[in-house]
Amino acid sequence: MAGLSDMERRILGEAYSSSEAMRNLTVLCDVYGGRFAGTPENRGAAEYLLGKFEEYGFEDPHLESFTFNGCKVGPSTLEIVEPIRRDVPCLTLPMTGSGDVESDLVYVDGETQVDVDELAGKIVLGPTRLSFIRGAETEVGGFIWTHPWPALGSPTGCLNSNIPGVSVKHEDGEMLRRLLKRHGEVRIRVAGECDVFERESWNVCGEIPGNGSSDEFLLFGGHYDGHEIAQAAFDCGAPCVAVTEMGRILNQERQHLDRSLRIVLFSTEEFGCWGSQDYVKRHRDEMDDLRFTYQLDCCGGGGTQMVTVDHWPELEPLYRRLSADLELPIPFDQRRGPGDSRVFFDIGIPTGSIIDERKQGMLELLKTYRHTVYDTLDKIEPRSLREVVAIGAVSGYRIMNAESWPAHRGPEEVDHLKNRTL
Ligand SMILES: [Zn+2]
Repeated sequence: MAGLSDMERRILGEAYSSSEAMRNLTVLCDVYGGRFAGTPENRGAAEYLLGKFEEYGFEDPHLESFTFNGCKVGPSTLEIVEPIRRDVPCLTLPMTGSGDVESDLVYVDGETQVDVDELAGKIVLGPTRLSFIRGAETEVGGFIWTHPWPALGSPTGCLNSNIPGVSVKHEDGEMLRRLLKRHGEVRIRVAGECDVFERESWNVCGEIPGNGSSDEFLLFGGHYDGHEIAQAAFDCGAPCVAVTEMGRILNQERQHLDRSLRIVLFSTEEFGCWGSQDYVKRHRDEMDDLRFTYQLDCCGGGGTQMVTVDHWPELEPLYRRLSADLELPIPFDQRRGPGDSRVFFDIGIPTGSIIDERKQGMLELLKTYRHTVYDTLDKIEPRSLREVVAIGAVSGYRIMNAESWPAHRGPEEVDHLKNRTL
């Protein structure tokens, strides 16, 4: 691997010989569980990660507090009333309304245009949250989200609405659809509880100063909050310990870094990225100096790890070269990045991600264990987690020290791209 410098070899050696990331992930998952934003587990995880920042010698380690619209998820029930009587296990979707409603069931696939009037008062069943959102959120009586893929249990995800919303596993969703097909009419009762209120959460921040040659900096981030039903290992514990590990390794090479690096672990991504939005607002006057940000989400789940950037064709040669120097195929794609990256994308900053190699799209993403009770530590492959750290740390170093770099985008260009890629 002749293209690698001695320093890059040291970075790779550390990435492949340390178990620090996996050890941190074990604590996040087994001690702090889903780290649902605003809960004591969320706070405990923030303090644990802050302690790691201190232990690794990051500068100015601190928590930044903010408030957001959060919730406490209560129990729910789903009952088929006619033509048969049966209780169906379900989960309450966070941020939905509390209530008890009985009505006719309607299936909405999320792609076919629906007549909003026909959904009024009905209970909508659909394979994506979009089937509800594109339907008639203010008109329908209740919502049942069915997992689009088998053997993955019930999905979860915030659904801001004031009607009861629940989820069921694919197999139960299919049964409901068969009943609809055979009988034409199916009577359903949905009852759920979810308390929505203002809560507090915290971003975990630390800095690795470079050698002082430039005021510019990079920011590596991932969100440490997850859903209350699982360990949130894939979404998003693994990405969060991976960026922390990149910081730990690069901190040992400070004197070689022409720009500084911030590691920021965001919270509340699952509630709509309040943490990253608060960060950008709070640090608005520093954003001109932000050269590049990696926002990792859903990586380390096994298999090949790929790099994506948010429509920056100028960056492609850097990754082609990295792939050649590492003598390792690194799939590369231009696509919209995950939740927290959009906050940076919106203000024109070059953003990228490292994720499990997979096709684009919400349905494809749901093929993983993400947002189910099965998103647990045992699904994370230490080998692919190390690959994420290796790719992120070496590419991060190259980006920090690159002489030329694309300028930030202006608002018009951002709008143009958003319209194209939404
Ligand atoms: Zn995530």
